Formats: sequence, C-alpha cells, structure tokens
Amino acid sequence: MEDSRSFDAVVVGSGPNGLAAAVKLAQEGLSVAVFESRATVGGGLYTAELTLPGFHHDVFSSVHPLAAGSPYLRTLPLADHGLEWVHSPAPLAHPLDDGTAVMLERSLEATAQNLGQDAGAYRRLVESRASHFDDLAGDVLRPFGLPSHPVLFAGFGLRAIYSAAGLAQAMFGGPRARALFAGLGAHSIMPLYRLGSAAIGLVMCAAGHAVGWPIARGGSQGIADSLASYLRSLGGEIIAGAEINVVDGLPKARAILLDVTPGQMLRMVNGLPAAYRRKMGKHRYGPGAFKVEWALDGPIPWKSTDCRRAATVHLGGMLQDVVRAESGIWGGRHAEKPFVFLTQPSLFDATRAPEGKHVAGAYCHVPNGSTVDMTDAIEAQVERFAPGFRDRIIERHRMPPAELERLNANCVGGDIAGGRQTLRRLLQTSLRGSPYATPADGIYVCSSSTPPGAGVHGMCGYHAAAAVLRRFSGTRRREPEERAVWEPPI
Ligand SMILES: Cc1cc2nc3c(=O)[nH]c(=O)nc-3n(C[C@H](O)[C@H](O)[C@H](O)COP(=O)(O)OP(=O)(O)OC[C@H]3O[C@@H](n4cnc5c(N)ncnc54)[C@H](O)[C@@H]3O)c2cc1C
Repeated sequence: MEDSRSFDAVVVGSGPNGLAAAVKLAQEGLSVAVFESRATVGGGLYTAELTLPGFHHDVFSSVHPLAAGSPYLRTLPLADHGLEWVHSPAPLAHPLDDGTAVMLERSLEATAQNLGQDAGAYRRLVESRASHFDDLAGDVLRPFGLPSHPVLFAGFGLRAIYSAAGLAQAMFGGPRARALFAGLGAHSIMPLYRLGSAAIGLVMCAAGHAVGWPIARGGSQGIADSLASYLRSLGGEIIAGAEINVVDGLPKARAILLDVTPGQMLRMVNGLPAAYRRKMGKHRYGPGAFKVEWALDGPIPWKSTDCRRAATVHLGGMLQDVVRAESGIWGGRHAEKPFVFLTQPSLFDATRAPEGKHVAGAYCHVPNGSTVDMTDAIEAQVERFAPGFRDRIIERHRMPPAELERLNANCVGGDIAGGRQTLRRLLQTSLRGSPYATPADGIYVCSSSTPPGAGVHGMCGYHAAAAVLRRFSGTRRREPEERAVWEPPI
C-alpha cells in the first residue's frame, strides 16, 4: 500500500493495546493513524452474528475484569462514547457434581460464607488485595519496576509466585475453595503446578470483588468501538481493511507501534540485526483455544440455579480435575474432560439474542495448532452440570485454533496470550524494564506479547506509548527501558 501522508505515530493493529497506544499518543496532541487488517476494529474485541441472524456472539474476549480495572482504560471517557458495562449479580459460578455451585460474589464476605471452613483463609488471602485493588493493578499491570505500593506488592508477590494448585492446597482445607481457586488459576494458561500460575488467579479473584467481571452491552465490540470513537474525537485516524505486510510501505512516522506478536514482527520489519532475529525466532507460542458458540432456544438448564446469577461459569469440578485437564496441554495432550470457560451474556444483556432466545460460548485450552475437534468434550462438560443443555441448541459455531488465527493473525496456532506464559517470561520481562523498543529505530511493539501480557486492559499499549513519548521528549537516555530491547524469553 502507498500512502504519502506523514504522522507522528502509526499503529499497526487495532486490538485493545493498539487502540490504547493510539489514544494515549493522541491525548498528548500527536497525529496518529491506526492500520487494521480486518474490516472492523478491535482485535480480540469482536462481536458477530456467528450462528443465526439476531444472535450476537463474542468471537474472542467476552468478560472484562481487567478492562474495568485497567489503570488506563478506566481514566478514559468511554461511557461518553457508547460503552456500557453490564454486571451479572455474581461474577462467577463454579458448579460441582453435588449439584451446588461455588460462587465468586461481588461481596467478599458472601463469597467467604459459601466456602465453609475456608471462610477465614479466603478473607486472609483476598481481603487486602481486593480492598486496595486499584493500587495493586497499578503495580501489576505494568512492566516490573519499583512498586508504588511496596508492602501490598510484596505481599501479593509472595503468593503470586506459588503454583495455583500449590497455593490452593496450602491456603484451603476444603474442596470448595480449592476448586474455585483452581478455576481462577486456569486463566494463567499454565499447568497448575507451575510456579507463577497463582498470580493471575489472585488478580482475577480480587478484581471480582473490586470491579466485578462485567460484559459490555451489545458485545465486546462495544469496548473497541468506544475506544475508536474517542480516538477519532482526538483527531486520530483509523484505516480498516488494510493489512500491513512490511512496515516500509506505511506512511512516514516518527514512531511505528506494532500490535503484533514476535513472528509477525519479524516478517514486517526489515534490517533487524541477525542475532536479534535468531533470538526472536525462538519465541514460543502458548496453548491454543478451541471455542464453540451456541444459539439456544432457552437459558442453560443448570442443576444449580446459582449458575444463572453469573455471566461466567467455570466447568471442571474439583481441583484435581482442573489440574488434570490443564496438565498435559503444554506437552501436546488433549484433555478428555477439559476445563471449560463458559459465558452466558444474554441472561444479563437482552440485546444479544432475539426475545426468549439466548447465546452462550465456551472454550478450552488445547495444544498450539491443534486440529482436534473439542466440541463433544466441551458440550459433555456443560451437560455434566446442566443436563438437557444439548436439547436447547438451535445452532452451533465451532472455532478451532486455525479459525481463530484466520480471524485474528495474532492468535498464532490459536494462542490467546501472545506467547507461552511462564514464570521466566514474567521475571525476565520484569527485570528488563519495559522492553517495547526494537533495535530498528523508531519501531516499537505494543501487543500482549509485551508486559504486562494477555487480557483486555490496554496496558501494553499504554506503556509502549509512554516509552515513545519519553523518546520524543528527549529523555530517552535516562529511561532504563529504552536501553533494553524487546526480547520475550524463549
Ligand atoms: C478465544 C479468546 C478468548 C479470550 N477471552 C478473554 C476474556 O474473556 N477477557 C480478557 O480480558 N481477555 C480475553 N482474551 C485475551 C484478549 O483478547 C487479548 O489478550 C487481547 O485482545 C490482546 O490485545 P492486543 O491488542 O495485544 O491484540 P489483539 O486484540 O489480538 O489485536 C491485534 C490486532 O492486530 C491486527 N493485525 C495483526 N496483524 C496485522 C497486520 N499485518 N496488519 C494490520 N493489522 C494486523 C489484528 O487483525 C488485530 O485486530 C481472549 C482471547 C481469545 C483468543
């Protein structure tokens, strides 16, 4: 593509990180253009009628504790640009085979009460993190550095370094709390006995009490559309339907920010040093996802009626079942009984489906690039806790890893996190400051492959934009992160 205009900054990719970066730069008065290959903006924020007309499905991301709790996104006037959060009465339900469900309620006390013998331990684990969630999010959703709240952060770090299964077993004696925490830990996309897999579980749990796990009215696309609308109001431009194969064809810009993963970056940028190319070429992508979306002729018939109070339902049973389901995936094995992340947005947002009908979606982790059809295994897990579910399906839409990647080039092999999540990745990126710069002058990476990693929070984009702004203001040499280039660990 040829474009003779020039901008202060050009962003390639309009995922939440690309849009957040563009908005931050535009807020500072810079001219910004965003180039997006898809016809719609948003990357992982994408709502479409996948099954039948009138049934609106979130293709990728659907539930947004990290967006609602994002230190940057929550400062933006997105409500003025159409974003409306919808909260289900409880953020999360985790049904068990005895017909009950462990509930993550908005109230910490109510949650503790449904954990029986572990009520006190739950309060001790979660209370300070939930009541100071804004401070915690500020220190966690950024590249590692000196925390602004060292005592809170140190307390978090001491537990976050545990494995999710290890922390659940160390803290809790009863099966209900253990099962709940195992499900939260599964959001790490790591085997649950790996060190560091507890971190995301703790953040998700604290966020549940502090900001909830909201969905966006009308679908996740609404988050992207509100960011895009705000960006345009600041003078930013968005060019959709423009796939960028090499950055050389882009309009002239003082900075180029790439909302892409390492493999894509290597294809797009010429002239990178050979050693850097070799190192980046060894980047390991993480597990993929297999996703199914359903059009339903009624709500899911959960055995536990509590499950009807939560937009998100974790299906996997007890801690050992969840551990087993997640354990083999890094090694290339598929779970016979996968751990399933299910959302049922139309129970709380009537715009998602025709009157009386519903949409629901679910995914499980699979080995990267898997071609195994997990539909039956996923539906069997729903049936386990909601007998008669299959009878309510009017239409289904399957998305194996290859389809996710076709719809969003950043989902390499179905990877939903921009790379394999490991403790080493956390620590190495941490110790390297905020590595958004590449060795190519003026070229930065701002996707979820950079710190602080996956999730719709926009903080990778925000911090990459901050690095660009520091460079523009001439403070480059004083910023440690400008000395480190982006090298995700292998
Ligand atoms: C199935 C699934 C479920 C998820 N569920 C949740 C959830 O419930 N909550 C949550 O917080 N997170 C969830 N996530 C994770 C979340 O969606 C991502 O972490 C987030 O979208 C990453 O944002 P990003 O801006 O880094 O990249 P992306 O959102 O992936 O955006 C990248 C953009 O770049 C564009 N692009 C790529 N290459 C080019 C090119 N060459 N030229 C032009 N444009 C290009 C792509 O089209 C895309 O629009 C989920 C992800 C998946 C896949």
